[in-house]
Amino acid sequence: MTNSELLDSLDANSFYIEGAEIADSKAPKVPIERRWEDRRFRARLVNPANRRKLSVIIVGTGLAGSSAAATLGEAGYNVTCFCYQDSPRRAHSIAAQGGINAAKNYRNDGDSVYRLFYDTVKGGDFRARESNVYRLAEVSLQIIDQCVAQGVPFAREYGGLLDNRSFGGVQVSRTFYARGQTGQQLLIGAYQSLERQIAAGTVDMYTRHEMLELIVVDGRARGVVIRDMVTGEIEPYFADAVVLATGGYSNVFFLSTNAMGCNVTATWRAYRQGAYFANPCFTQIHPTCIPVSGDYQSKLTLMSESLRNDGRIWVPKSGEDKRDPGEIPEEGRDYYLERMYPSFGNLVPRDIASRAAKNVCDEGRGVGPGGLGVYLDFADAIARLGRETVETKYGNLFNIYAQITGEDPYQTPMRIYPAVHYTMGGLWVDYDLESTIPGLYVTGEANFSDHGANRLGASALMQGLGDGYFVLPNTICDYLADGPFPKIDKSHPAVSVALDAVGARIDKLLSVNGSRTVDSFHKELGRVMWDYCGMERSEDGLRKALTRIRELKKEYWSDVKVLGTNDELNQALERAGRVADFFELGELMCIDALVRRESCGGHFRVESQTPDGEALRNDDEFAYVSAWEFGGDDERPILHKEPLVYEYVELRQRSYK
Ligand SMILES: Cc1cc2nc3c(=O)[nH]c(=O)nc-3n(C[C@H](O)[C@H](O)[C@H](O)COP(=O)(O)OP(=O)(O)OC[C@H]3O[C@@H](n4cnc5c(N)ncnc54)[C@H](O)[C@@H]3O)c2cc1C
Repeated sequence: MTNSELLDSLDANSFYIEGAEIADSKAPKVPIERRWEDRRFRARLVNPANRRKLSVIIVGTGLAGSSAAATLGEAGYNVTCFCYQDSPRRAHSIAAQGGINAAKNYRNDGDSVYRLFYDTVKGGDFRARESNVYRLAEVSLQIIDQCVAQGVPFAREYGGLLDNRSFGGVQVSRTFYARGQTGQQLLIGAYQSLERQIAAGTVDMYTRHEMLELIVVDGRARGVVIRDMVTGEIEPYFADAVVLATGGYSNVFFLSTNAMGCNVTATWRAYRQGAYFANPCFTQIHPTCIPVSGDYQSKLTLMSESLRNDGRIWVPKSGEDKRDPGEIPEEGRDYYLERMYPSFGNLVPRDIASRAAKNVCDEGRGVGPGGLGVYLDFADAIARLGRETVETKYGNLFNIYAQITGEDPYQTPMRIYPAVHYTMGGLWVDYDLESTIPGLYVTGEANFSDHGANRLGASALMQGLGDGYFVLPNTICDYLADGPFPKIDKSHPAVSVALDAVGARIDKLLSVNGSRTVDSFHKELGRVMWDYCGMERSEDGLRKALTRIRELKKEYWSDVKVLGTNDELNQALERAGRVADFFELGELMCIDALVRRESCGGHFRVESQTPDGEALRNDDEFAYVSAWEFGGDDERPILHKEPLVYEYVELRQRSYK
């Protein structure tokens, strides 16, 4: 029996072992509106003089990391911060375009903390933890005030108030924005605060330094192994606590809207050291991206969801209609989102809009090369608002589109198609944002905490900044109150083991000397992930993917070619380590998707759909967070379920009709 025949014959259970249930023990058992206040009150504090004796490592300088580093530095802790870019402000957060949510209700359109909480739980298809989401909605108010105080140039309306627009899955306008550069402006704000602390001496910043291992001593996270990406030097760094703010893992798909450097290594290394990885299969496919145009591409480009405020999405009613869009009259067009979801129209959540686009293309009504595109049309908006207004709101996005496609979106509709964009899964954390390894905290996209099976637009920036400015500083103190912990140095056996493991892995990658590039393997892995663990997943497809990923992983370690040495700037080596981790992650994603035999949010199992093709949840069996524990190399991972209990939002089938 071949390996693939063997796998085909096995039950899904044979891919994993079921472990004990897991629970969040930190959210206080008081009414939801009082939980965060109660937790802050009960968390032990560290007085300012003692903070100077405590140290924290923060890996990552995106919105989640730089906000945390600046805040903890200002509080007086000794912070050491790392990023792999040449400047903290080049973190991937800088790419965020459309906006950041907050329940300020400036538009007086019925918004509230409770509504933001409700929308987020429903938008996530009832697979997020209520306590965390409610707190996120609460701190959203503070985030905007903090950013305004820093000078973030949010768009303003004529009366002088901050302007708002709408994002998918909601019927109010609560998205604050700075044209199509919201992430950049927010990051400049956080970066300035971080730089201030660097100048004040509370934060030591190491750019072009990559974390390759977590150091765990006596069951606590006590440090990281870092490679200096310019010299290749490998050094351990120690602290009383470690925070990972290392972003998401969409690049496992090779093609995604994420920055090229985004990877899973930091969280994956922590997983291998004992931190549980939650809901790895929950990935977000964004409906409005520029379609793939050829095999040579290594990156996809997002057209912000904000465009759905004014752009109308359509395809020809008939697949035979090959006329130019401008020549197709109204009666020949199918504004399918407006038709299928009249209440939310073009602003349905991303998972729903993406699937609808895929369906019309599968029906043969897609437009552009290969029929893999739908129109996003601004003709009505330009007629109603005037070109100047449209340009003011979205000008930079229109420019990006024109530069990439050579088409003028003011004259002809944009063509868009779904692409991988965001990962809801990540390291499991409790209400304090602490992982299953004591002293290891995880913030921003790197954790799994707030978005369930589908993130609503403009909620990632909110979560990253909420975690860094307001949540972590109020919870990590409870842990640090027991510090400082005993000093450790290089001679500690746990440190030598971590250093040796990093060295051995690098040596191995450099010594294979095979025939294929890292990128060619990555591309093939990405294709398998997209085909079988992308917009649609099936039992059969996931089993095929698992077989192929395991074969590919084996080939990788015997046939990859990594040029150069460790003692120099070596991007091939950097990528080689990241892709090796992507193979392991891809496998866990497929196992997670296989085990979850229901559809929810972005996780669409073909076997579980309503008669009209919507995702069909199975709350009786799957209303849980899957938290995976590393079982060992070539061993099965262990699944711990965290049951999800809904006390405030009624569990029901989502409807945006
Ligand atoms: C094109 C695009 C547009 C988007 N627009 C929006 C939007 O309008 N609104 C919204 O809410 N969300 C948006 N998002 C999502 C949002 O931008 C991200 O989820 C968010 O910025 C992630 O922030 P972060 O701080 O968690 O991680 P990141 O910004 O990804 O930062 C990760 C940091 O970790 C560091 N790092 C990672 N691994 C290591 C390692 N091993 N060693 C050392 N350092 C490491 C990196 O150097 C970096 O500093 C968008 C995403 C994309 C791709």
